[in-house]
Amino acid sequence: MARIAFIGLGNMGGGMAANLAKAGHAVRAFDLSEAALERAAAAGCACAGSAAEAAADAECVVTMLPAGRHVAQVYEESLFGNAPESALLIDCSTIDVATARQVAAAASARGLAAVDAPVSGGIAAANAGTLTFMVGGTDDGFARAEPVLAAMGKAVIHAGGAGAGQAAKICNNMLLGASMVATCETFLLAQKLGLDPQTFYDIASKASGQNWSMTSYCPLPGVGPESPADRDYQGGFATALMLKDLKLAVEAAAGANASVPMGAGAMALYQAFQNGGGGGLDFSAIIRLLGGEAPAA
Ligand code: NAD
Repeated sequence: MARIAFIGLGNMGGGMAANLAKAGHAVRAFDLSEAALERAAAAGCACAGSAAEAAADAECVVTMLPAGRHVAQVYEESLFGNAPESALLIDCSTIDVATARQVAAAASARGLAAVDAPVSGGIAAANAGTLTFMVGGTDDGFARAEPVLAAMGKAVIHAGGAGAGQAAKICNNMLLGASMVATCETFLLAQKLGLDPQTFYDIASKASGQNWSMTSYCPLPGVGPESPADRDYQGGFATALMLKDLKLAVEAAAGANASVPMGAGAMALYQAFQNGGGGGLDFSAIIRLLGGEAPAA
């Protein structure tokens, strides 16, 4: 079992650190929030007074932070110079591809191994230990990260070199955001054309329009398997997080000279929905914007 530092014990990191401790790892945790630290202690983690202290004798350092600037700051100010040179740095946050590549290069220049390992799956999957990890880094970095990540998830996939995990994550979520918008507008059109939503679902789920947003996560209540639509769009994957990922995808596309009109269109719609007060609702609630309803209708 390994000595693991865990930095960032929020909605996602709290459950992930708890699962590492449950698997028998010695977890030394740090967060700026006292309440988060108390929850980690109750889950079997030892609490450190700073990120540098948590990393001091770690074999592996996992970070689960809000955005690229937090990751760059923690790496530069707390991990470099404090984590042992033999340590493996694993960043599970969702951040921009450019920062992921910069921090990996800066780590490598200091003799530290680093991988990016963003996740698919929300808070429930983080708590249950059923996340999917998309890993960017060397073969050696992946081989070292895999057993640690396996204690927090159901699948660990090597996506390619540094930054490839973040690239896979934002490409997947851009596809998800665009397909959700397309699914919502299609159901609204079907209804306006006089089709019963369940009948249209039965047809399209067996025809070429079939897609995950419809058959596993239908944005209409009462249609398809149980989904956030059946809980008034509470829980699930928040619009604010989908918007964050769409912005990362559109930003990465600009840097790579790639044309993403559907991704950019989805981003604009999610931005409008968030501006109207829908940021806390599940991302399938975008159907309300498209139907001309207020977010809290
Ligand atoms: P969160 O805001 O709940 O948690 C982030 C934590 O980081 C907070 O507890 C905060 O206090 C801590 N933090 C910030 N700066 C710090 C620092 N310098 N040192 C120590 N701690 C610091 O966010 P979350 O929902 O847990 O998401 C974390 C990451 O996971 C994000 O990148 C997010 O995009 C990604 N993600 C979230 C979900 C989700 O459903 N919530 C799903 C997939 C991926």
